[in-house]
Amino acid sequence: MSAVLHRNLRSTPQLALKGDGVYLVDAEGRRYLDASGGAAVSCLGHGHPRVTAAIIAQLGKLEYAHTSFFTNEPSERLAQMLVDSAPAGFGKGRVAFLGSGSEAMEAALKLARQYFVEIGQPGRSRFISRRMSYHGNTLGALAVGGHAGRRALYQPILIETSQIAPCYAYRDQRAGETEEAYGLRVADELDAEIRRLGPETVAAFIAEPIVGATLGSVPAMPGYFARIREICDRHGVLFIADEVMCGMGRAGAMFVSAQEGVRPDIITIAKGLGAGYQPIAATMASERVAGAIEAGSGLLANGHTYMSHAVACAASIAVIETIEAEGLLDNVQRMGALLSRRLNEAFGQHPHVGDIRGRGLLQSLELVADRDSKQPFAAKEGLAARIKQTAQGLGLICYPSSGTADGVNGDHVLLAPPFTIDAGHVDEIVETLGAALAATLPAARSAA
Ligand code: PMP
Repeated sequence: MSAVLHRNLRSTPQLALKGDGVYLVDAEGRRYLDASGGAAVSCLGHGHPRVTAAIIAQLGKLEYAHTSFFTNEPSERLAQMLVDSAPAGFGKGRVAFLGSGSEAMEAALKLARQYFVEIGQPGRSRFISRRMSYHGNTLGALAVGGHAGRRALYQPILIETSQIAPCYAYRDQRAGETEEAYGLRVADELDAEIRRLGPETVAAFIAEPIVGATLGSVPAMPGYFARIREICDRHGVLFIADEVMCGMGRAGAMFVSAQEGVRPDIITIAKGLGAGYQPIAATMASERVAGAIEAGSGLLANGHTYMSHAVACAASIAVIETIEAEGLLDNVQRMGALLSRRLNEAFGQHPHVGDIRGRGLLQSLELVADRDSKQPFAAKEGLAARIKQTAQGLGLICYPSSGTADGVNGDHVLLAPPFTIDAGHVDEIVETLGAALAATLPAARSAA
């Protein structure tokens, strides 16, 4: 019996005793290849000495000083490192450090609201996001998330937001439609939605440059984000890029917005920022947003006790320095390409693998009952949960999620291994995943 309020109150999960590079080790000494870093968190694997040393050094100096009295060295340095490597428009921007991706999203929504009050447009308070998106679990972040299942319980206490279609070619691109035409068609839904709501009431559009948790690593079509930027500019609406999962090197660049050539007004990052060594996230305000507040009231209207935590910021600096020193962005690109190739070789013709997609070390498989019709498995099959459990039993941590209850998309398996993996680990991931799928999917069950 556990006193921890676990997700499942009737069973206690396996005890993770220690980490060893890309492996986790449980209390019985069993080793698990951590191929998803939980949910795309552990980008350096476990027990990296450089990050551990940086944390200890900072603890010996200063662990914490409240931001209403002091700033601290690690947060100043980390903020500068981030604005220096961010897309255009952030060079003279500002960064707030928070404890989780959800907090970073809350701060982003509040910043957008404050921005419009500061520039004399207080009527702008509405947010538009995309269906089947995930932006966090706190009430504001949940309200802009477009995953009906995750919102359902809390619907009566969520602020009203609206959603347009995601850029999800596997299911929505029409026959004969080019990728570009498809991307522009779905981007134009934003224009229609802003007009429907009244541009003078809309504060911001929120999107993950690569969709993560809800759809499983879905990058946008070329031209999509350029059109989104154009539409936001046309109507004076801010663009918030949620890079909580896809940013910080996971897709082969520190910022996916930069890869996409788009200039967001606000960017959120988390997961890989602390790599699991410390809970830390950041909300980055571009010069446009930070400048308006500086020129206006001069005061950020949002605050938390643990903002700019010195130890967390020191850990993040060490994470970013390690990515640079070990050439890990190159490894993400090389191993990402290898992982994608191996997944295609192993599952490209699999009767229940409908789509293999992703970028860098953020790759996923969408599972379907029928490849031709793309019919998802019925929710009652509980496929994602069974794959997760089977894979874990075989020594592989991957991140399966169920499709939406309305059957709009299928279950998927997300892979987000540490940036430090090598070709041998890629083979181990694909082989073990293959064994887990063979033990779980219906074709294998009936053949057995
Ligand atoms: N945004 C995105 C894109 C995410 O993937 C997540 C976490 N899965 C969040 C926000 C919320 O982050 P956290 O769980 O750290 O609150």
